[in-house]
Formats: sequence, structure tokens, C-alpha cells
Amino acid sequence: MNITSSPLINLHTHTPLCRHATGVVDDYCHHAIQRGMKVLGFSDHTPLPDGRWPWERMSMDELGRYNALIDHASDRYDDLVVLKGMECEYSPEYHAFFEDTLLGELEFDYLIGAVHYFPHQGSWFNIFEDQMNGSTFNSYSRYFIDMLESGLFKYIAHPDIFGCSYPDWDANCEACARDILDASVEHHTVLEINCKGYLKPKLNTKRGTRNPYPWFKFWEIAAEYDVQYIVNSDAHKPSHVNANIDKGLKLANFYRLKPATLKIS
Ligand SMILES: [Zn+2]
Ligand SMILES: [Zn+2]
Repeated sequence: MNITSSPLINLHTHTPLCRHATGVVDDYCHHAIQRGMKVLGFSDHTPLPDGRWPWERMSMDELGRYNALIDHASDRYDDLVVLKGMECEYSPEYHAFFEDTLLGELEFDYLIGAVHYFPHQGSWFNIFEDQMNGSTFNSYSRYFIDMLESGLFKYIAHPDIFGCSYPDWDANCEACARDILDASVEHHTVLEINCKGYLKPKLNTKRGTRNPYPWFKFWEIAAEYDVQYIVNSDAHKPSHVNANIDKGLKLANFYRLKPATLKIS
């Protein structure tokens, strides 16, 4: 099917298996049906074969359960298309797991690439807890580009997430944004306007308060590029199943960004 962003479609939904979301799979589906939504894609945080970052994702042992829960939901509802996805950090050693196990053997409908950590000077930098500075931007954009060049991902989540830990837009941000946008155009990579950022506490900056993401400056620059977007809620609780997608679409329309049409399964 072909999918274009609308408040009735969300391709970024979590489950309690990630240990920081609430509500069971059916609760998310019921909320979606109540709101007249047409498509709900689950994309919980992927387990990793080496067990990395276990506190915020299912274990490899739980993968079969997740797979069965989403398969069951997609058979169960006539009025809602339920898709099976996963949100993935990228590292070359995981490539075969994503490609052969998730997309291959388990027939996932799609994978999302997402930066929550990136390698910097020999260790993993945590985008939510560590403070970005000039030297981290190159590491962020290099990692982001490696991820999109893997070709595994239907879209890349929250490209502007560096806005969580760097309050004021400057030349570092602009260079990073342009590197990401150049590569996204070259590889026809779709970028996500992630509306979970609207639910997070605002940041204080020299120019007043703002949401950590979406960071408007990033999308203003994106408007100069032939890059396509998708808007998702990134729901971690059932009542957020399409929260603020209308705001994300307004942002996209304001900057006249190009909507993606994703072909899924
Ligand atoms: Zn999460
Ligand atoms: Zn997410």
C-alpha cells in the first residue's frame, strides 16, 4: 500500500516491551479506531543481538512475543491496517539481523532508523543525556549518514533530535543539517517530523523557549532541498496514538516541504 502522512496514519508506535511505554497493543489499536485512523504501524525499540542498551528495549527473548502480538493485531481489526515495524539504532554488525531476521524471516513491513546514541571518540554518546558541542556534530552526521546509506530503513526518525541537547542554532547545527540533507537527497531518504517532541518540556534558549524537536530551523533549511517527509506521533501511550500529527503537518505545510509516499508491504 501507498502511505502519505495524515492525522489518520501513524507509523511510529511503541509497546510496553520497551520498558518505557504504557498500554497494551490492543489499547493502541482501540484508540486509533476510536479516532477513525486508517493505519497504525508499530515500531518498538529493536532488541539487539549483543544485548546493548537493555534498559529501554525488549530482549531478544521477547522478539517472538512482539512479532506474535503485532501479527495477531493485524489479523484482528477490519477497520484498521496494523503494520509491523521496528525502530532501530544502526551499527554494521546488526545489518544481517535487521535484514535477514526482521525483514526476512519475520517479514516485518518496515524498519525505521533512529539516532538515540552515536559513536564519538571511542564511546557511545547519549543524545538525551550528554551535551552536544562543536566536536560532536561531525560524529552525529557521520553516523546518521552511515545509517541512511545502509538502505535498510523506510525513513529516518527525528533527524533534528540534536536539538534536545544544544539550545541555540548556530553554524555547527547548520553544517550538520546540510550534511544530513545532502545525503538524504542523494539516497532518496525520507525524514520524519517527530511529534513526540511537542509533548516534552520546552527548552530555554537565548531566543525564548522552544520544543526540543521538531526544531523549526532544521525544517526551514530542509525546505531548500528536494527531501521528503513523513509525520508521526512516536506514541508511547495509547492516548497519544496520533497526538500532534496535525501540528507536524502544519509545520510541513508552512515550509512547503514535500510529502513522501511510502510503499509498504
Ligand atoms: Zn521510546
Ligand atoms: Zn520512537
